This record gives sequence, C-alpha cells and structure tokens, in this order.
Amino acid sequence: MKKSKWCIQNKREFLMQAILFVLLLPALVSFSQNNNSLNSRDLSYLTSGGKLHPLQAIMDIRHYTIVLDVDIENKSIKGSAEVSLNLSKKTDTLLLDLIHLYTVTKVKVNNKSVAFTQQDDKIFITTPDGFELGNQKVLIEYNGIPPVAIKPPWDGGFTWTKDNNGNDWIAINIQAEGGKMYFPCKDHPSDEPNEGVDLKITVPKNLVVAGPGLLQSVTTKKDRSTYFWKTNYTISNYCILFNIGKYKVVKDIYTTVLGNKVPIEYYVLEVDSAQAKKVIELKKRDTKILEKYFGEYPWAKEKIGVAEVPNYGMEHQTMITFKNQFSYSLVGGQEYSDNLFHEYAHEWWANKVTNKDWGHMWIQEGIATYAEALAMLELGGESAYDEIIAGHRRGSRNRNPIVPAGEGITEKEVYAGGDIYGKGSFFMHTLRYVIGDAIFFPTLKKLATDPQYTYDNFVTTMDVEKLFSTVAGQDLKPFFDFYLRTTNVLDVNIKEIGFHKFQIKINNSFMPLPFEITTNGQTTRMIISKEGITVNSALPPQVDAKGFYLKKTTLQ
Ligand SMILES: [Zn+2]
Repeated sequence: MKKSKWCIQNKREFLMQAILFVLLLPALVSFSQNNNSLNSRDLSYLTSGGKLHPLQAIMDIRHYTIVLDVDIENKSIKGSAEVSLNLSKKTDTLLLDLIHLYTVTKVKVNNKSVAFTQQDDKIFITTPDGFELGNQKVLIEYNGIPPVAIKPPWDGGFTWTKDNNGNDWIAINIQAEGGKMYFPCKDHPSDEPNEGVDLKITVPKNLVVAGPGLLQSVTTKKDRSTYFWKTNYTISNYCILFNIGKYKVVKDIYTTVLGNKVPIEYYVLEVDSAQAKKVIELKKRDTKILEKYFGEYPWAKEKIGVAEVPNYGMEHQTMITFKNQFSYSLVGGQEYSDNLFHEYAHEWWANKVTNKDWGHMWIQEGIATYAEALAMLELGGESAYDEIIAGHRRGSRNRNPIVPAGEGITEKEVYAGGDIYGKGSFFMHTLRYVIGDAIFFPTLKKLATDPQYTYDNFVTTMDVEKLFSTVAGQDLKPFFDFYLRTTNVLDVNIKEIGFHKFQIKINNSFMPLPFEITTNGQTTRMIISKEGITVNSALPPQVDAKGFYLKKTTLQ
C-alpha cells in the first residue's frame, strides 16, 4: 500500500470531529439508542494481527475455498468458505475471524454439522468430543452486507461504484482490517494458506471478475456467471480478494530473467482499454528493473496481473491494482507511475518476502519504497536516485521507532508513525553506504530469493540484520537497533582544537561508521569510532555532506 497523505491530515480532521462529537453528544446518545443496527456498522476499531490467540496458535492454515454470490443490487454477499487447517493439538474449540456484519448459518467440520457462536468478530466452533490433531476441513456458510470502504485502500471494505459508461464496478480493499472483512479466516500475518486459494465468484454475466492466480473456468447459467480463480501459491489473507467490472482483458507475454514465459493480464475497463498498451509496456520495463535487483518475478507459474480500480492501487498478489487516472511522471525522459511501481515492488517485498508480524512491516513498506529509489537510479541516474532519497530523509518524522518493541503488533499500530516507508527506505540507503554496493546489492537479492526468507518462510528484522551481518562480516546489530528500534539520530560534534585542526566526534557513537569528510575541498571516506578523529582543515570540515545518515551536527 502506498503512503497516505490523508493520514497526515487526518489528525486535524480527527480533532475537529472530536469537538463536533462532544457538542453533539446528547443528540448522538439518543440516536444510537434508537439505531443499534447503524451503530454496529462502525468498524473503525478493527485492525489486523496483534496478539495471536492461543486457539489460533495451534492451527496452521493450508487452504481456503471461497464461494460467493455477489448481489450488486442489494450490496450483499452470500456463500461459503471452506478452511482447510492442520491442528497441532487436540482442542474443543476452533476459532476463526469474521466480522459481525455477517450471519453464519451453518458450520460443518469434516462434513459433520457442529455448534458455533459468533462473538466479537469471531466464530467459535465447538464439538463435545473435541477436534483431533491433523487436518480439519471447516465449511462455513454465511451471508451479509459487507462494510463499505470509507477511504480505500487505507480504510477498507467494499467499494460499489460505476464506471463512466454506467457499468457496475466493485473493488475490495482489506489490508488494514484483514480477510475477516468478507471471509472466515485466521487473520494473522504469521499464517498463510500454504496450498493457496480457490475463489468462485458469481456475478451478473455482463461483468468480469479479476482474481489471484489463474482463471480456471467461467460458467454461465441464465444471467449469472461464475469465475473460478485459483492460486497454488501461499498468499497473505489481505491479498485474497477479487474486483468486479466491465473489464476487457488485454494480454501479453513476459520472458523472465530466468527465461520463463509468464502471461501478463491487464483487467482494464472497456472504456479505458486504449490505455492498456502503455500500462503493459510499463509493466514489462518495471519487471526488468525489479528482477535486476531482486530476482525473477515471484509468481512465474501464474501471471503478472493488474486490475483497474476506482481507488489508489494495492499490492494484491498476481493482480495488483491501479487507479484509473493513467497519469505518469517523466524520469530520464521515460514515463513512470510511482503507484504502479510501488505496488508492483510489493510482489517481491510483501507477497514473496513477508514479515512474520506487523511489527516488522518496514521490511515490506521500507524496501518497496527503496525499490522506487532503485527505479529512479535505473531511469534517471544518480541524481534522480539522490532526489528521491533526500525526500525520504526529509520525510522521516522520528516520532516512534519503526520497529516497535515486542511482537503481536497490529497493522494500525505499525502504520501510525508513517516512518516504515521513508525512514525504512532511507535506512536501506544508509546500509548501502555503510557496507558498500558489492555487499549490499547481492545480499538484498539473496534476501529476496533464498528459500529461507521467501514464500512459506516469513522474516523478522532480526533475520534481515543477521543476513547482512553475516555477509558483511561485521556485527550490524547496533546499527539496525539504532535506526530501527530508537528514534535517535547521530549526534555529530565538530570542535576546533588548534590552528587549522578540528576534532570530529559522534557523541552517541554505537559502532565505528564510515563518513565522507570534506577538508580543504577534498572529500575522503574515514571511519569514526567512539574516540573520534582529528583532521587538518583551514575551514571547519564538512561531515557527511551528501547526507547518508540521519544526524544533527554541532560546530564548537
Ligand atoms: Zn506499500
């Protein structure tokens, strides 16, 4: 997901709303008492992840099959979800997440009807004999009116709208709140369905459903068509979704860096199909850039997919979304869309390399944002790279550490500071400088390609730190801790200690670090450790003039 400018403005709006709320409180109390159903649709408290419930810690999700009929007129859905899961311990209760706006009508486990209750946006499924170790197939029939997205993709739900020709156009965005926004699931980033997902979505036959993986079939009965999408890859629950529109599918083929041929499919509104050729050309070029740094396109056995949606784009696996404005900037004379590129970078950094807990979200957002800087480097050269990196440095707010203490962090907690994007990217830039390109780039590619960090295996900040430390042959933990787990910046002190003589010290030095030191018009890379260094210079030396570090400098 791309950083939201709206989030920054939101505090002021929140304050205004709070004042309005206090003023209107007496009226609201009597209103809510008479209107519980309206009140219960407020989902602003929802988030995804957090502390893993013990009942969910014993289940490993293997597969989801979601079968839904979408009633556009009534803005409702009805159908079932089959959750295949492995239990590591016998239990009398299975726990799945599903928001309370849906009514569960039946639950079967291994084809036998069982008791269930819905409470606190969860389904508690019970049986007197308990559920045994091993595989359980949990079938849940449910229906309801999905939440309407307030500010997609940041505040998610369903968006029911129409294209310029008056055709229905429906988008789903659920990163902030999780898959439970429309299907029963284990809503935690530490578990994905290792064997993938089947989606069977029924819509009016004049519309098309865009989904993850490969389209298996379209079956039409009377005036309704069912689109059967299937992915065999593991996938985050917030990427399990579909978009509906009067789409035309524009296709092409991409040959990956390893020589595999992958279909490119762009689900573009018929009204915008003239735009398709350019989007596909940009996708091909962007894939080349991303493959250069991070290895082969991750889902080569399925497809490179894009779907046009009415909101800002999202990183939905094998079907990223793209807003329908088709506006591009020029970088090095070439057209470029940061939204298209950022969401696409998430195919590597989010979908393939996935953090184990929301607390490590900088790995997904920070490195996807850094990927944008690498796109600048490829398209516009060093100056374009420096320009975007300078923006990331200036944008670092440093109000909260980007890796919060502990695990069991929620999606909303980790996004609140905003620094997982720009500061996360700038951290990668600093790391590049500290260990040098010859180590940095191959190690970054290793992180994106080594089986121990990808697909079914999730990563934490410690995994990233250990990998870079091992390859660099130096303990980088103090460096990772300083920039990711605190809000500190380097405290650089320059002191004149004699005729044309200066001492440079890092007051809060945590390990020896390299710096560009400029004296008498000459710049030299020097290592400064706790003791500091002394340099000869007619004028006060410049330390780190190009700004590889977040720092403050004082001259005495
Ligand atoms: Zn993002």
